[in-house]
Amino acid sequence: MKRNEIRSTRVPVYRDSGFELENAMVMGEAFNTEAASGNREPGHYIYSRYRNPTVVAAEEEIMKIEGCNWALLTQSGMAAVDVAMSLFQEAGNSKPWLFFSEIYGGTISYINSVLTARRGIRAEWFSPANDGYNLAKLEEMVHRVKPQFLYFEVISNPMLIIADAAEVINICKRNGVKVIVDNTFATPYLLKPLDYGANLVIHSGTKYFSGHGNLTAGVLCGNGEELMRDAVAYRKFVGHMLSPDDAYRLHTQIQTFALRFPVQCENAFRTAKLLAGHHIIEKVWYPGLTEHSTNNIADRLFGGKGYGAMVTFTFRGDAGQKRQRRDMFIEHVSDKIRLVPTLGDPHTILMPVEPVWGDRYPDPGMIRLSVGFESFDELEATLSEALEGL
Ligand code: PLP
Repeated sequence: MKRNEIRSTRVPVYRDSGFELENAMVMGEAFNTEAASGNREPGHYIYSRYRNPTVVAAEEEIMKIEGCNWALLTQSGMAAVDVAMSLFQEAGNSKPWLFFSEIYGGTISYINSVLTARRGIRAEWFSPANDGYNLAKLEEMVHRVKPQFLYFEVISNPMLIIADAAEVINICKRNGVKVIVDNTFATPYLLKPLDYGANLVIHSGTKYFSGHGNLTAGVLCGNGEELMRDAVAYRKFVGHMLSPDDAYRLHTQIQTFALRFPVQCENAFRTAKLLAGHHIIEKVWYPGLTEHSTNNIADRLFGGKGYGAMVTFTFRGDAGQKRQRRDMFIEHVSDKIRLVPTLGDPHTILMPVEPVWGDRYPDPGMIRLSVGFESFDELEATLSEALEGL
């Protein structure tokens, strides 16, 4: 095939498991330089579990958005979490790892079931007080515990508490502690924690980067070369590599991220205001509302660009009424707003909070919306009709 005559404008999908190398000497050189290479793209492609050119092309798109020196894709957000944390694990180092308590439930399960139960890591937890993070308490804890690293999410789930990421990172730097940030909810559109000195940023690429609910991916982003080399090697050893097909689709879909996410933020803000103004709603949690406990931090940190695309709310009433209203609402909107356990889809989707979070958030009336980029008029009509119907 005369490849240079095809003139495709798309990135090719290289489905090769292994790549041809010219001769024995080149193969030797490829293997010898592969792990040690300081280059983000290898000198030679060898085997797709190590590196794949379609995956590298998608990584380049993410680097542009995140404004970082390197990005490495993994087959899920959890794989990115595993790579990120494992890079800081050293045999014989018994320092604890410090985690904010308000992080994704799957990450909490990973910490408890894998890190603590299997690997013997000592986990310490930092919790919010009065719906916000007390930074003086954090500094005291970081100083006392001297963790190997701190891991947190900028926007918590499902209460959408904003961590003052700039200050949190400063506290860690002052105390010589590394920082990993899961920035899935905020995305680089709202905040780039690497600019403040975080060591690693991870995302579930399944969410806003992919943006269409049709693939699973994760990504680690950083600037330091040594961390990149360690991450390339760890990803290779455990096989956390993204497939070329998913990388191809991510490469395409991420090109509309800058168009999609601001619309989602705007729709979410308008949704939060609509809900907050309705008499049947007891409370709305959205960082853009002045009554949200961390609204001022969101304003300062996100510079007015937006407040994210998640909205959590609960109905008025006693426990029985709340549950009934929640279930009726879910039924009323079910043609337009589906109950799907993910976030970042093109259309608004929802999750009831109590059945998923249980005792952590036991309010039976609570619903978490992942707001999409459909027309707001359509969303407003669906929500208003459902609320009136209750
Ligand atoms: N981090 C956050 C904040 C998430 O919400 C999720 C999944 O919902 C993950 C990480 C894990 O990502 P994945 O499901 O792509 O493995």
